[in-house]
Amino acid sequence: MNPTMEIFSQGEEIVTGQTVDTNAAWLSQQAVACGFTVTRHSTAGDNLADLTALLQDISQRADCCICTGGLGPTSDDLTAEAVAQAFNLPLEFDAIAFAQISRFFAQRNKTMPGSNRKQAMLPHGCERIDNEWGTAPGFSLQYGCCWFAFLPGVPMEMKRLFEERIRPTLSSRFLLQPRQLVTIKTIGIGESDIQERINSIEIPAGVQLGFRAGADEVQTKLLFPFNYPETAKLAAKFAEQLGDYVFAIDGLGEITGDLVFEIDKLMTSGKHALAVVETVSQGLLAAKCVGSEWLLSSIYQQSTSKLGQNPLAETDTENLFAAAKAIATDLKKHSGADFVLVQLVAGDNKTLHDKDKSMAIYNTLLAGDKFHHAAHSVAGPIKRKQNQAALLALDLLRRYLQNKSMNH
Ligand code: ATP
Ligand code: MG
Repeated sequence: MNPTMEIFSQGEEIVTGQTVDTNAAWLSQQAVACGFTVTRHSTAGDNLADLTALLQDISQRADCCICTGGLGPTSDDLTAEAVAQAFNLPLEFDAIAFAQISRFFAQRNKTMPGSNRKQAMLPHGCERIDNEWGTAPGFSLQYGCCWFAFLPGVPMEMKRLFEERIRPTLSSRFLLQPRQLVTIKTIGIGESDIQERINSIEIPAGVQLGFRAGADEVQTKLLFPFNYPETAKLAAKFAEQLGDYVFAIDGLGEITGDLVFEIDKLMTSGKHALAVVETVSQGLLAAKCVGSEWLLSSIYQQSTSKLGQNPLAETDTENLFAAAKAIATDLKKHSGADFVLVQLVAGDNKTLHDKDKSMAIYNTLLAGDKFHHAAHSVAGPIKRKQNQAALLALDLLRRYLQNKSMNH
């Protein structure tokens, strides 16, 4: 059986909803990946009695607890004091912690306020967790059946401390048998179509199948038991059924990301450059690629009539693609990019704003001297239509880069 983990987030701003508890979400994901069963999230405000009671409860039921927040210098930061009371471990001055805090200020040419001395007061017998990324050191201790680690609330500091000081020690403290998660990422295919395609695959006992549909991708997840021998084989069966809709498979060793991350890898390694004309997505495609050196230029045309054609009024697919070809050829000449993506749309602005009406999107990719076309329909509120339009254009490029079928 997996060891259990609880996450305890301390702070008035968390219970009052002013700060969203992203620490608990992030820590839980790490804990599950390490092989823990996360049993509870708890939050308590700046109240010593509540904090103390909660710590005592957790010490009796969990194998491990990660607490974040409340380690700061101000009077509302009560974590160390609550630990002292809950476990009868008086606070003691830690000279090394104090020297580290003083150094943190000195390195920034700042005078250390007197209140920061409080952060060097740690519960008797605990192990200090040195913090090079902020002022407050963390600490850990065993009480009852539970090993506690107390980390600062600031997410960046908390993550660094977890990754560098906590995670490496967990396997020596606990018997961890992490399950393996393989995520098959697709675009352009919905959950129900995925289900149809994979129906014929027999799922072995102990393997869990799940789906997660987001705005930008649909994930098919396979959760394998510890040391399962045929992970890659089963994942390959799924990938085969899902075909060219698959843009990445996560969890088999390769570093993967979202659609733009996968495009970025291939654009960069192939030393390609892209020029784009967007209509309905209004710059969203370029925004998704922000920071990418291969995006040479991006033009947003509210009406494509300014491009010498008037495809908005067109309903004939052939004419639209002919218009896109002319635009792409012209842009290729002027931009110096080897790839040009042109997004055209049939329908007017009213259709775009009407959530009950769908719109036809015509994407054209000019790669080398070849044109690839794809026609799709997007539906829903304007934001959804625009996001879909941006993704469909990018997916045409992704298919080309990954040598996938261009007709879908
Ligand atoms: P500091 O030394 O900065 O006071 P601390 O350990 O006392 O650190 P808190 O005062 O509880 O931490 O939180 C510092 C900041 O970190 C908060 O203002 C908030 O922005 C962020 N933070 C704290 N807890 C969380 C959490 N659970 N999830 C996300 N952000 C958090
Ligand atoms: Mg604080």
